[in-house]
Amino acid sequence: MDKPIHEEIASRRTFAIISHPDAGKTTITEKLLYFGGAIRDAGTVKGKKSGKFATSDWMEIEKQRGISVTSSVMQFDYDGKRVNILDTPGHEDFSEDTYRTLMAVDAAVMMVDSAKGIEPQTIKLFKVCRMRGIPIFTFINKMDRQGKEPLELMEELEEVLGIQSYAMNWPIGMGKEFLGIYDRFNNRVEQVRVDDDKRFLAINEDGGLAEPHPMMETSYYKQALEDVLLLNEAGNDFDEEKIAIGELTPVFFGSALTNFGVQTFLETFLQFSPPPQPRITKDKTEIDPYSEEFSGFIFKIQANMNPMHRDRIAFVRIVSGAFERGMTVTVPRISRTFKLTQTTQFLADDREIVEEAVAGDIIGLHDTGNYQIGDTVIGGKSNFLFDALPQFTPELFVRVTAKNVMKSKHFHKGILQLVQEGAIQYYRTLHTEEVLLGAVGQLQFEVFEHRMKNEYNVEVRMEHVGSKVARWIVNEGDVKESMAGQRAMLVKDRHDKRVFLFENDFAMRWFHDKYPEIELYSQL
Ligand code: GDP
Repeated sequence: MDKPIHEEIASRRTFAIISHPDAGKTTITEKLLYFGGAIRDAGTVKGKKSGKFATSDWMEIEKQRGISVTSSVMQFDYDGKRVNILDTPGHEDFSEDTYRTLMAVDAAVMMVDSAKGIEPQTIKLFKVCRMRGIPIFTFINKMDRQGKEPLELMEELEEVLGIQSYAMNWPIGMGKEFLGIYDRFNNRVEQVRVDDDKRFLAINEDGGLAEPHPMMETSYYKQALEDVLLLNEAGNDFDEEKIAIGELTPVFFGSALTNFGVQTFLETFLQFSPPPQPRITKDKTEIDPYSEEFSGFIFKIQANMNPMHRDRIAFVRIVSGAFERGMTVTVPRISRTFKLTQTTQFLADDREIVEEAVAGDIIGLHDTGNYQIGDTVIGGKSNFLFDALPQFTPELFVRVTAKNVMKSKHFHKGILQLVQEGAIQYYRTLHTEEVLLGAVGQLQFEVFEHRMKNEYNVEVRMEHVGSKVARWIVNEGDVKESMAGQRAMLVKDRHDKRVFLFENDFAMRWFHDKYPEIELYSQL
């Protein structure tokens, strides 16, 4: 490493981009990688869908879906900072891994489509970030298209998500009439469709453009100026402390596709996003990123890179110290040590063997089935466990059986291991002991089915029982089975806790009205 370790650690910026599908996450990621010099052409990230990796032997689902481990973590350098972007897949790829990835970052960028506003998947991912109290930066995208009024979008942030907002910049027009942005933070106007040397226009003390400019005659400019005045008077103040704890989100308007406002966003983001943050252990000790001893936790396991072997990659977020290839680590859960020789680091278009990495970085450990999601790994003599990763409320459920009843032993063994690993959630009906599996995304079922066949040699039959609203019970003793009625099921989770699976929100509200004394709660 070029710098002393503490400087290396302080230079890390590890974040995820959260959004609803199609808001422009891939597009902005490409632009960021491009600025970081990690790719030569914006357009490479989507290359995964054009069959670029077709020769690799990763599991079928990966190929079909174009998910690739290389795009799980992308790393580049910018302005003396080393940036790690962790991918949070959307669409059908959405799974508990998507949520867990948010446990491994220090900040989040929330992409919003200016025409659509806050969408369902954004809300879900936002909640997880909010629970962690990490800084959230908002990029309102597609300003080159006609969208909602900017003030309306700001209101939506506050009302739908309940987060205060501060507009770092403000659009001047939109769609075909998008002239640029009024950059409140850098005190300048950034113009669209001009040569680079004319890009920035200075603002004088009264808030208007310093030099005469044709733009000043447009209604868009006048409107923007009026809006900015309003924000200055009635809007929230810029407050770094509130940003740091995720109470206030700095908002940037721009257009990822036309690459407008992205670089300014990146630079401001890097200025305010935090370096690696400490993590809490089970016994509530704080592990400082700068402490010498290497430690980290596994937040994701990606299975079957090669179907001929059962190998997987366990993704480790390094919490403290430095990793060196060949080092020995302990996994306290199973009291075992491993020599880390096969480790991977992730770049935009390649996997590379990693030699060194520090707190804030993500490394991939080659796993032959030893690791579990949530595992702590430690490089020194200490013995502690990081706080458990939260459990997420599943929404989709299947009833699962082995196609061949003779395989029932393997079936149960396989399920047990995959459940322990955190790949899927496990429930049983109360008397009949039927197995139900729960997931937050369809992909989890497909991976489950695939792994049962390939790793445990069991073909499974899965029958969809549809989406359900799962709620746990505060005082289980007060609940009788008959309360479930026609529109709910009472089942057990893997810790034998009772869970109601309601058909829908309506059924849940009906239950609330009928049994107001029964207190229910959801996982995250
Ligand atoms: P993701 O699903 O969030 O990764 O979204 P993509 O980055 O794949 O973008 C979805 C679609 O929106 C694509 O057709 C993009 O070209 C388009 N798109 C992304 N950013 C912009 C933008 O700033 N303006 C416009 N007009 N289209 C955009």
